[in-house]
Amino acid sequence: MAQADAQWLQVRDDGLYVAPADLWIDPARPKARAVITHGHGDHARPGHGAVLTTPATAAIMRARYGAQAAGRFEDAAYGVPQRLGGVDLTLRPAGHVLGSAQVVLDYGGRRAVVSGDYKRRADPTCAAFEPVACDLFVTEATFALPVFRHPPIGRELDKLFASMARFPERSHLLGVYALGKAQRLIAELRARGYDREIFLHGALKPLCRLYEDWGVALGPLADATAAAKARLRGQLVLAPPAATRDRWARRLDDPVVAHASGWMTVRQRAKQRLAELPLIVSDHADWDELTATVVETGCETLWVTHGREDALVHWARGRGIDARALSLVGREDEDEDAA
Ligand SMILES: [Zn+2]
Ligand SMILES: [Zn+2]
Repeated sequence: MAQADAQWLQVRDDGLYVAPADLWIDPARPKARAVITHGHGDHARPGHGAVLTTPATAAIMRARYGAQAAGRFEDAAYGVPQRLGGVDLTLRPAGHVLGSAQVVLDYGGRRAVVSGDYKRRADPTCAAFEPVACDLFVTEATFALPVFRHPPIGRELDKLFASMARFPERSHLLGVYALGKAQRLIAELRARGYDREIFLHGALKPLCRLYEDWGVALGPLADATAAAKARLRGQLVLAPPAATRDRWARRLDDPVVAHASGWMTVRQRAKQRLAELPLIVSDHADWDELTATVVETGCETLWVTHGREDALVHWARGRGIDARALSLVGREDEDEDAA
């Protein structure tokens, strides 16, 4: 049966291709028709003819790419099935960022679920991951090594609060990815009672505004680029990871540099980032969540993509699951490791 699945859900150079529907999933190059799991750049590329995606992801793509985003968008709300060339396609929440979706495909009595990127932790900025029982599960594997066990976000934010209390005169410069991580951190800080202004690098503003338009309250935000040096003293400033190391950061007087990423588990990466305060906060599933999710789907076949594939394939085979690594190209993990 697994072999038959590979006939209608095909692994090609540019990504996964749903043959009976003539539809690509997160393709690496422009296609006539694509379904897009979420707005990160290694999944949502500009220039497709028709894009089937959630309304929020369509809005994110328009914000990032403007007129080049797609020829046209076909909105697909969560949970509403559509029939395409004999394939029933339904999007379900992936819990990764606003608008993120798993692609559920029913064809010829078989069900395949393509997870896209996902996490299982609660996130106040997006709908929670919904496990879907299936025959074939295609999972991401960004943090698919047993060494990756993400701590609770509250514990990491306590480190930030402790540092701010210890160095009240210094600003805290937090490197975060612009889509998802920035908004989630702000919302989690607000949930813990942090009600002061949060200063933003200009690159973070459009997507923060977009999240607010979609009903995610972020509280008082201010423009870090326009603010005088004195005003930033003792404040929390968010910027893309690369900006924490470039000229832009000189507007801050001796800041405490923090980074929020799943990669902060790896000491070497934290050093490369010059992160005085590494915070382990990830929008991807960790090892325990990946393996628990595979079990929950009840899949007999597992395809592993987008990351460290071998360990998860080995683990799954040990449980009698028919598993393979897809080794798709063009998956450079932009969302957690943007330079
Ligand atoms: Zn992503
Ligand atoms: Zn990704």
